[in-house]
Amino acid sequence: MTHNQPPKEFLTSYNPSTNEVLGNLPISSNEQITQAVALAHQAAKAWKAAPIGDRVRRIKAAYAQIKPYAQELSELLSKEMGKDIRRARGEIEGGIFTGAYHADSAQKALANKSLGHGTELHYKALGVVAVISPWNYPVMMANNLIVPALVAGNSVILKPSEETPLIAQAFFQHLKTHLPDGVFDIVYGDGQAGETLVDSDVQLIAFTGSQAVGKRIMAKAAGNLKRLVMELGGNDAMIVMADADIEQAAGFAVASSFENAGQMCTSTERIYVDQSIAQDFEQRVVEIARQYQVGPWDQANVNIGPIINAKQHQKILSHIQDAKNKGARILLGHCEYEAPYIQPTVVADLTPDMAMSKEETFGPVVAIGRYENIDQAITQANDSNYGLGACVFGHKGVEEVALQLEAGMIGINQGPGGSGDAPWVGAKQSGFGFHGSAEGHRQFAQTVVLGK
Ligand code: NAD
Repeated sequence: MTHNQPPKEFLTSYNPSTNEVLGNLPISSNEQITQAVALAHQAAKAWKAAPIGDRVRRIKAAYAQIKPYAQELSELLSKEMGKDIRRARGEIEGGIFTGAYHADSAQKALANKSLGHGTELHYKALGVVAVISPWNYPVMMANNLIVPALVAGNSVILKPSEETPLIAQAFFQHLKTHLPDGVFDIVYGDGQAGETLVDSDVQLIAFTGSQAVGKRIMAKAAGNLKRLVMELGGNDAMIVMADADIEQAAGFAVASSFENAGQMCTSTERIYVDQSIAQDFEQRVVEIARQYQVGPWDQANVNIGPIINAKQHQKILSHIQDAKNKGARILLGHCEYEAPYIQPTVVADLTPDMAMSKEETFGPVVAIGRYENIDQAITQANDSNYGLGACVFGHKGVEEVALQLEAGMIGINQGPGGSGDAPWVGAKQSGFGFHGSAEGHRQFAQTVVLGK
């Protein structure tokens, strides 16, 4: 920033389909962030001293208050993030449901545990937890980290993405209103506000976002060994074996590549298909992909919304162009879309040197490569420093293939991720520390061994 530019005081939120201004929120100053953290420490004293059952009751009561607002919150989420109303409704209702669900399961996970021989495990609050969240699932991602942190007796400060501050404010204000003063607060701003929060007197940083920002946060946290939960990006691979059900695999490939306009951490980014069925698979993918409708959230039958911003739009186009330059066939679409939309795009002959193979494209693009033998497919799938999700479609020997993939969540003839009690976990540079499951909930607490 040059010295004749005044400091930015407001975050402006836009509808990514129309560029219409949806609202402005004051950016939290460094002083305000430090003050919120100090208040959170004070509030944490009584909060952590209360019985865990009382905390859970208050958290669940706060989520129950959100229910009557589900429709207006879904519309705001759609307008601000761009996803269609059906998906937005799913995220809001899912957020309300999992708020209560995680509160109950965290209560069970954090109960004292006897190991026999006079040894007990206790799970104690860490202090103040900073939750820093992305824009693609602005309610769900923050929610999953806030609830176990609060149940464990911590106070929480949320810093939502600068792209989606309004829905974060509207949804999470209910927690702020219904919990004791200072136990939960929200601060607003971009990466700079995030850095101030990371540098402040917080004991755990629970971050969901890109690998690059995760690395910066980790470096900053090293100074005084702040605890970290890092839920980072992915570059999920899918293998389609020779005996796969082509119809099922093609349907999944398109749905997963296009989900949330491709802006999903576990969307399928790279597909490796056995060459003996590749032509049939590619043809079916194109037929299914053609049926997707692109447009604004409130237009009927739309299932691919706008790309969140011009920078991300440009990145997707550059990946398609790069693939084309390196010899890929563009089976559907092209690389000259005007912002904010990208029409359904299918790219074939993916090779390891293409940007699409190495980085998250994060757009509605199905990218397909071919393999000659299964070892080659496994090598290509694992040729990434990411390791969030992966999946394999096929029958004979499919589980052996799945177990050789380097990812935290692996699906066989389905997408990655398990039941509601499974952890949401990445491998390699997709992060460490995770939420969900008893093991996940305990990462928001200090484990104490008590011998007596
Ligand atoms: P991002 O990393 O750009 O930003 C995430 C958050 O970090 C935002 O709130 C941002 O303001 C903040 N931030 C930016 N710079 C910061 C800094 N230096 N210090 C502290 N905070 C800072 O990510 P994004 O574009 O908002 O989200 C998309 C990314 O998130 C993708 O990589 C996606 O795969 C990933 N993601 C991962 C998961 C998961 O479960 N693993 C879920 C959703 C999204």
